[in-house]
Amino acid sequence: MVDTEKIRLEIENLIEEASSTFESCTRCGMCKSLCPVFKVLLDESVSPRGHAILLSNKILDKIVFKCTLCRACEDKCPANIKICEAILRAREALSLKEKLR
Ligand code: SF4
Ligand code: SF4
Repeated sequence: MVDTEKIRLEIENLIEEASSTFESCTRCGMCKSLCPVFKVLLDESVSPRGHAILLSNKILDKIVFKCTLCRACEDKCPANIKICEAILRAREALSLKEKLR
């Protein structure tokens, strides 16, 4: 049997972790031009800065599955933000949400 409350709590914690990763993000956009997914799709929401904006506002979107986890954005981030970790937390949260359906 699925422990609904436990899963809900876990989802909340994962969203909080993903969001707090971007606390020191200045939205400078230095990461954006390095992202291979953004280079192809030319859509801000798939860029690392796009993820920063969504996740820091605790918005979960399946767009996080478009990231290749290449870490090119992290290499150049002046604030040393662990973008991929946040994306992984968001993916976990979305997967858990599926269990509640
Ligand atoms: S480079 Fe770092 S600080 Fe700048 S927008 Fe990207 S994640 Fe935020
Ligand atoms: S880790 Fe994801 S968001 Fe960062 S540059 Fe690579 S594809 Fe883009």
